[in-house]
Order: sequence, then structure tokens, then C-alpha cells
Amino acid sequence: RLRGLLIQHHFLSNCSARTASSVACREYDVIVVGGGHAGTEAAAAATRIGAETLLITQKIETIGALSCNPSLGGVGKGQLVKEVDALDGLMGRAGDYAGVHFSILNRRKGPAVWGPRAQLDRGRYKEFIQLELLNMPRLTVIEGSVEGLLVSTADPEQPGKHTVTGVRLADGGNEILSSSVILTTGTFLSGSLFMGKTTSPGGRMGEPPSCSGLTHSLREILGLKLGRLKTGTPPRIVKETVDFSLAHLHLPDLRPTPFSFINTHTHCKEQIPCHLTYTTPGVDRVVRESLHMNSHIQQDTKGPRYCPSIESRVLRFPGRQHQVWLEPEGLNSDLLYPQGLSMTMPLEMQLRLIREIPALQRADIHTPGYGVQYDFVCPTQLFPWLQLKSIQGLFLAGQINGTTGYEEAAAQGLWAGINAGRTALSMPPLSLSRTESYIGVLIDDLVGHGVTEPYRMFTSRAEFRTSLRPDNADLRLTPKGFEEIGCVSSPRYLEAVRVRQGLSEALSALKSITMSPSRWKEKLRDACISETKSTLISGEEMLQYKDVSFDMVASAFPEILSPYLEFSERIKIEAVYRPHCEKQQREMERMREEESLSLCPDIDYFSLPVSLSDEVREILDRVRPSTLGAAMRLQGVTPAAIVHLLNYVTRTG
Ligand code: FAD
Repeated sequence: RLRGLLIQHHFLSNCSARTASSVACREYDVIVVGGGHAGTEAAAAATRIGAETLLITQKIETIGALSCNPSLGGVGKGQLVKEVDALDGLMGRAGDYAGVHFSILNRRKGPAVWGPRAQLDRGRYKEFIQLELLNMPRLTVIEGSVEGLLVSTADPEQPGKHTVTGVRLADGGNEILSSSVILTTGTFLSGSLFMGKTTSPGGRMGEPPSCSGLTHSLREILGLKLGRLKTGTPPRIVKETVDFSLAHLHLPDLRPTPFSFINTHTHCKEQIPCHLTYTTPGVDRVVRESLHMNSHIQQDTKGPRYCPSIESRVLRFPGRQHQVWLEPEGLNSDLLYPQGLSMTMPLEMQLRLIREIPALQRADIHTPGYGVQYDFVCPTQLFPWLQLKSIQGLFLAGQINGTTGYEEAAAQGLWAGINAGRTALSMPPLSLSRTESYIGVLIDDLVGHGVTEPYRMFTSRAEFRTSLRPDNADLRLTPKGFEEIGCVSSPRYLEAVRVRQGLSEALSALKSITMSPSRWKEKLRDACISETKSTLISGEEMLQYKDVSFDMVASAFPEILSPYLEFSERIKIEAVYRPHCEKQQREMERMREEESLSLCPDIDYFSLPVSLSDEVREILDRVRPSTLGAAMRLQGVTPAAIVHLLNYVTRTG
């Protein structure tokens, strides 16, 4: 309660939260619409690079709200959190502040695919994000709903091309001007909520959808192609009604690993366990009996394949036992989030269903599960800097681009914020390559291939995943963020430089120690080293043995290596992956070269005087890849077509 009061006091006293009328007719460098995960990172990033920014969101109180699961990170998603953090975003630090159960997923596999993850305290997460945003210089936050975009058709010769000039608010029709607008409306664009046979307009339970005028602006006025997707959330369960003795205890990691590179520890004093239980044949029965009362499940609209509802799981895999994780909703919360039980059947059937699970046989529901359907904008209409190709200055980020998940939204928000800020400040846009980040992979997939179902990140989507590891996101992105982009603070940059220097010195020192295998065996008594190699082995190569740690080598050579003990785990990972990464370098260079060959956005592919099939011309015209590399990754574009395109690009310069 005290925290709540503090936040309230903060809102009242903070001058960055203003009313809609006080900003009417004003002009901002950047306007961000929506205060979800995409919008908050977008606003913060635009502000960090120096743009005077306005964030407009329906309710200030829900800024940073976790609409569904109270958790952050995981396999693939954890990499995105680390990259957002490496570029000085908010999400990683918020996770460290709000986490109540930290674990690294995939620990048994290599560190490249480890998935840093945490259960969060919902209230603390929102609190962190709100306090950060409302204290940011150059950022104004107002409560309001954007009902339309102000656009001008700049060039009469190009009637399909528009330029955004600002937004119009629903209440009172106030207009606010800006040459860069970022839409991050999440699940709210023409949002409808579903439970049983009941459908009502909404973007999230208890919150209205985005004004219909906004969809009208996008579809009818700007001529954009929109699609529809769906998702859902489970009922929240009253904790004290659960019999934990009938579920398996799942403990967090003993030592929580922070998400943020600038945090040495998390804020959590005492972590909370999770529990695992399973569905029963009774659950299948209730799903089947309730199908005729469940409109959401009957719709053809695509939902998230990797986070399906219990109804979809039962229908796809009949008779199978499904995992249900009972996850805490917060430090002092009386509620549990049953991950795996997202459902949209009527409330009485939801209660019957959960009570078919032994640990939940006396459980009560606090808030029912429900589904949401919403419009998204087909992301092939975007440049890799997340601006729409046909509308100068209009950027999109988050669920509006067909993704699902907080991390995917935050990553896009950050990148859109940087580019919207750069556009407003008359700087050229920037793209991130697949060779340097998961953010680059995410955006390249979206703008190159579009989506047919909600897109979520996996490590398998990144071809260079051994180089794009969660542990080295700071080395990959923080220097670029400071030196080229200007979105990283100087203390963070100096820390990344210090770490880079330390790692490089440690690896050189390890290389300088060379001995025969038998000599190493003597030195590292506990290690299991094969003596079959007759050549000398360096300290760096020794670390490639599974059970040789940096600490072991350092204790054998303390005078050379002890200064680097603080980087122990990172040195081990670097040493293990170095041979793989060196092999990948040539492949990465080739991709970078292909990406440096840009394709002009206005090429008329149908009249291009090169030998291309009608099908290839149609694909290129539809997607309009911005580089030769992006064209190569398009399905249906043949290697022969690429050779002709390459000749054309090099001929025309
Ligand atoms: P959101 O977090 O939705 O934020 C959008 C923001 O925009 C809100 O603050 C809203 O008030 C504001 N806004 C909208 N329109 C306007 C307007 N016209 N003017 C001003 N402000 C506006 N993700 C998963 O990964 N797995 C799941 O299983 C899952 N299930 C979900 C279930 C439900 C019921 C919901 C609602 C979401 C679910 N999600 C799930 C999605 C997850 O919440 C989103 O991926 C993530 O929140 C997207 O972030 P965002 O910033 O794009 O949008």
C-alpha cells in the first residue's frame, strides 16, 4: 500500500505527466501512442537519443502492465531482454527489480542457448517502469486515446505516399503535431474480448479497445493491409485454495542471475518457488463438453502456436497429459498464474476444468480466463527501421506488427524509438543486422516474411546463435549504442569497455600459457584431461575441456590470471565458443556484404530490364526488400534472380 501511495504521490508531483489539453497544438519531435512494452521502450529510447517526446496512453496507471504471464525472458526471449538492456533499455533492469524467481532455462545445453528467465511481481514491474518514465528528461506522458492520424500527401506525383504530421485525440479532438509517430497499440486495435459465447469490445480485461477511428485511418485512409490474430490468458487462482502437496516443487536458481549488465545482483531478498502439475482425462472431458459454448475456439483466426490455449492443446493432442505450472503473481500476492491453462470457456466450465486437476480440486478462481482478438498491420509494409514504407514518419512496434510477447514488443519498441528520434532529428535511419543481434533477426523476419500467426522468438531463428549469446549482448551492442546511436549512457558504455578490455587481456594471458598435456594434468589435479595430444596446449584451449574452469587455471597461475577472476564465467564461455565463432566469421562477413548492397525503395520491379520471372517480380514488388541480403532470404526468389539483381545493383551503383 505504501508503494501505491508513493506512486500516486509521484504522479501528482511529477511535471512530466500532463493533461491532454495542456499539450494540444504543441509540436513534439516524437509521439508514441501506447504505454505497453513497445511504447515504453520506444518513448525511453527516443528520449535517450535527444528527441523531445510525448507518450500518449489510455491509462497512466497501466503503463508497464504485464497483460498475461508475470514472467520475463526464457529461451530466445531472454536474449532479447539482454539486448534491450545492452542498448540501455528499461526491461532488464525492471526484471531485476521485480523478479521473485530467477532461473536459467536450457542449462544443460550450451550457454549460447541458455534462456535467462524470471517470475515477476506484477506491481513492482509496473512501479519500476512508471518511475523511470515519469522521471525522464525530455519525456511528457499524458493519458488519452488517439483516434486518428494527421497525414498529408506531400507529393501529388505520388498519391500513394503520405507523411505523418501528428495525431488527433478522441476526447475533445485535440491535435498534437509531430513528424515522427510510433503506434504501439498492442492487442487494442479493434480488440474484442471473448469468454464463452460472450464477446465485448476491449483491448484487455477492463480496458476499452483503441478508437475505431485509428483502424479507419490505417486501413481506409492510408490503404494499409491489416490482418487479425488472437490470444488468451488463464484464470487467476486463489493461492490458499491450492493443495501444493499434490504438485511438484520447482525451486529457483540458488544464486539469481541479473538480466542487466549493470546490475551485480537482483533486488529479490527471498525467492519464491513454482510448482508443476499435470492435466487429467477430466480436463479433456470438460474441454470437449464446453466446445459449443466457446466462440473464441471456434474462430479461424490464428492464435499463438507456442503458447496455445488448453482447448487447442486438448484438441490437437487428445488423451495427452499437459504440464501446468503454478506460478506466483508476486511477492505478497494471494494469486497464482496457472501457465498452460489459458482458456475462453464460460466461467462455470473454467471452474469445473481446473478442479479436474488434483492440486486444484478445491481451488477458487479470482479472475476468469478470456481471449482477445485484435487487428495487426502486415509487417512486410515496414522498412527494417520499422517505418511504414508508404508513410514518411509513421513507425509501428510491438504486437501491432503481429508478434506476441513482452520481449518481442520491447525490442521493436526500442528500435522504432531510436529511428523515430533520428528521423525527427534529421539523421538517417539505422537497421540492425541478423549477424549482430536477435533484434535484427526479429525485425528481418517480420519485414521480410510477414506473419501468418503470432510471431515469437526462438534461438533456432538465429543462424549465428553461437555468436549472438545472452552473455555477450553488451559487447555486441553497447559500444555501438554509445558510439553510433547515442542511446547508451556513458557509465554503461565505460563499464562495457572495461569488461571488453578485461576479457581480451584475460584471453591473451591464457594464450600465452602453453604446456604439454601431461604438464597441465600435473597443474590441474582435479581436471580430466586426455593426454593423447602431443602438441602444446594453451590455457585458452584448456578451457575448452568441459570440466576445466577459469578458476582452476587461475589458481595454477595466480600471478597472471587472478586479476580477471571477476570475469570467470564469461572467459570460459568466450574460450569455448571462440573456434565456432571464428568459423562463422566468414559467413557473417558475406551476409554483411550482401546487406550493404541496398535496393532503392522505389524500384519498379515490373519494368526492371533484367531477366526475372513474373513470380519473382511480384514477390519483390510486394515485399520491397531494402537490401540484396533481404531479397535473398525471401521465399520464392531464386539464386539466378539474385545474380541478375546483383548485376543490376553493381551496374547502377
Ligand atoms: P500492449 O502491452 O498491449 O500495450 C498497448 C498499449 O497501448 C496499452 O497501454 C493501451 O492502453 C495503449 N493503447 C492502445 N490503443 C491506444 C490509443 N488509440 N491511444 C492511446 N493508447 C492506446 N503474450 C505472450 O507472449 N503469450 C501469451 O500467452 C499472451 N497472452 C495474452 C493474453 C491476453 C488476454 C493479452 C491481452 C495479451 C497476451 N499476450 C501474450 C500478449 C502480450 O501482452 C503482448 O505481447 C505485449 O503486451 C505486447 O506489448 P505491446 O506494447 O505491443 O502492447
